[in-house]
Amino acid sequence: MSASFIDIHTHNALSDSQAGIQSFCIQDISFNQQWPSSFSVGIHPWHIHKVDVTQALKQLEYIACEKDMKAIGECGLDRAIARNFDLQLSAFISQIKIAEAFDKPMIIHNVRAFSDFLSILKNEKPAIPFVFHAFNGNKDILNKLMRFNVYFSIGADVLKDNSKALRILPFIPLNRLFIETDEWEGDIAELYQKISELKSIDVEKLKNQLYYNYKNIFA
Ligand SMILES: [Zn+2]
Repeated sequence: MSASFIDIHTHNALSDSQAGIQSFCIQDISFNQQWPSSFSVGIHPWHIHKVDVTQALKQLEYIACEKDMKAIGECGLDRAIARNFDLQLSAFISQIKIAEAFDKPMIIHNVRAFSDFLSILKNEKPAIPFVFHAFNGNKDILNKLMRFNVYFSIGADVLKDNSKALRILPFIPLNRLFIETDEWEGDIAELYQKISELKSIDVEKLKNQLYYNYKNIFA
């Protein structure tokens, strides 16, 4: 039997031929929310001003009791937006505590904050894996992050000539790799095809490897 196309991070509903994690931002959750079979929720730094963080963290703990809630996120740090960075940082650290308490990996949003994440990994020593979504770091950052329990997810940027994703992909080991559509509405099969060509691996083998990675951390 061939493995599904794992989509580690999407804001769209997953089709029958896919498996993976549909991501929700906490401010969009409604009372009586209908959850898909596999999802994540987080306080996104872009929307942090829209929520009462203390309240949102309580809500997150409540949702984390759902067995189909596979990860906390997306959440993280963004130095390119006009949102209070200290607030982003404290909300993120609090989300790490929830992720650890419920033993759930985290889907990480990062913009210009790799050094902040490296300090957090060194100082907080989180017991759960981080999955950097839309990873676009350079080789030096990749090597530093590789010392920790970190995975790297690549999305539709890999289809663009000269993208950072395209440049770093050859250096990401297959056992640390994920693929995502995020907000892109194309077919994830296209990303698997492109990445299998770039990594010189048969697409079925790539699917099996990513399925294994997924089972490994989201079991
Ligand atoms: Zn996203």
